[in-house]
Amino acid sequence: MEVLYGSTRGNGTKVRASQAVLQGLAPDGGLFVPDHIPALDKDIEELSKMDYRQTAYEVMKLFLTDFTEEELKTCIDRAYDSKFDREDMVSLKEAGGAYYLELFHGPTIAFKDMALSILPHLMITSARKNNVRNQIMILTATSGDTGKAAMAGFADVEGTGIIVFYPKNGVSPIQEKQMLTQKGNNVLVVGIRGNFDDAQSGVKKLFADKELAAEMEKKGYQFSSANSINIGRLVPQICYYVYAYGTLLRQGKIARGELVNVVVPTGNFGNILAAFYAKKMGLPLGNLICASNENKVLFDFFRTGAYDRNREFILTASPSMDILISSNLERLVYRIAGDDPARTAELMAALNGEGKYEITQDMKSGLGDFYGNYATEAEAGAEIGRLYRECGYVIDTHTAVASAVYRKYRQETGDGRKTVIASTASPYKFTRSVMNAIDGGNDAKEDFALVDELAKISGVKVPGAIEEIRTAPVRHNKQCDPEGMKEVVKEFLGL
Ligand SMILES: *Cc1c(COP(=O)(O)O)cnc(C)c1O
Repeated sequence: MEVLYGSTRGNGTKVRASQAVLQGLAPDGGLFVPDHIPALDKDIEELSKMDYRQTAYEVMKLFLTDFTEEELKTCIDRAYDSKFDREDMVSLKEAGGAYYLELFHGPTIAFKDMALSILPHLMITSARKNNVRNQIMILTATSGDTGKAAMAGFADVEGTGIIVFYPKNGVSPIQEKQMLTQKGNNVLVVGIRGNFDDAQSGVKKLFADKELAAEMEKKGYQFSSANSINIGRLVPQICYYVYAYGTLLRQGKIARGELVNVVVPTGNFGNILAAFYAKKMGLPLGNLICASNENKVLFDFFRTGAYDRNREFILTASPSMDILISSNLERLVYRIAGDDPARTAELMAALNGEGKYEITQDMKSGLGDFYGNYATEAEAGAEIGRLYRECGYVIDTHTAVASAVYRKYRQETGDGRKTVIASTASPYKFTRSVMNAIDGGNDAKEDFALVDELAKISGVKVPGAIEEIRTAPVRHNKQCDPEGMKEVVKEFLGL
């Protein structure tokens, strides 16, 4: 059955998957949502025998229903190749009573590679299917990881270009160096003098700018989005939950049908929403544990039903979760509002205007799949140290938030179910914070000296992505104020 995509705020107009991928955001500012969540059409036993690429095909074919088998398989083969440093793509490490699902074996060593390595291929295929001749310009705001992963995915891909905005003082030194050394004739990266929400709001404004769109059209350009609002990112993220469950089954760690909890370190709510969709497809998942850092707007939402972004923006050691406007939550809100676009539009208008909204008691009862909690900076740091001392396993600062929240969850609920923790970045991406959590006293040391120390204590080889930037020349140095973003885009496109 064909899955069509409508807007969370819209009038019921629906588009095919390829059109939703191309457009990114719906024309009314809402997010595209599938009109139904398809059920897995293969038995979990059968899925558990498949490798990652086969599993990805089985999941993605159910959502991207206007792609042919050949188109989809070509996208999968081009994306999930030797860019990943493991043949099996992801790995599941047992440590301290949980299973860490390492999603960071791709080219930029963060989980975003899982989706952003395939998105360019989905997008070009979508353009071809819809007879789009314009060059697709990807416009993206990043809290650090999306930007690099998107640039790596789109660099020198014919028919595309990419512009990335990141908060100048809101990403780790390694993240920044990764971005500023990006090669490719079609890429531009710009530091914003502001925070991630400024960058994201600015990007949303550019997407909605009709005048700019008209000028671009004349020159043969159109925008699309590589942010996690694009269903072309959401759908590939569902696959690894199915694969993780299948792996546990194949390895005999769980019985068929046994419920497994999932903990996800959350920012924009994309990754955990993918877990929710996996559950709705029939994957036997138990609780979906949403872990926040000190920007705990989601924890407060799950506890009280009130979403309120009016608070201090805190810069933490897990910058990819430093977010106060969690975009993908809109898709969950739509769902618990009974797929009601008018109601969703009203709440999002309140978020836009007053920076807050409150859901009804009725809607709140739809949140039963989720448990929310948060970890302070001290708790997350302590978790890195503890796991290293007790198990010799080193995790990054984002995964540490999830791991610390998982401990709180167990203490609070006594739930002993098997649990998968999404491990979203390599510790090498946040070396300084990770090494400080393990032994402190590193202030005088250089970033790459710490990289070498991390290799020594963890026994994990320095990933290629880090080796590469050690000596790579910086290629970008542009900065602007949030108000200056449009000018920067026009200049880059020669408008
Ligand atoms: C993006 C990111 C997150 C947050 O993921 P969302 O899908 O935005 O919730 C967590 N950890 C890392 C390392 C990330 O890059």
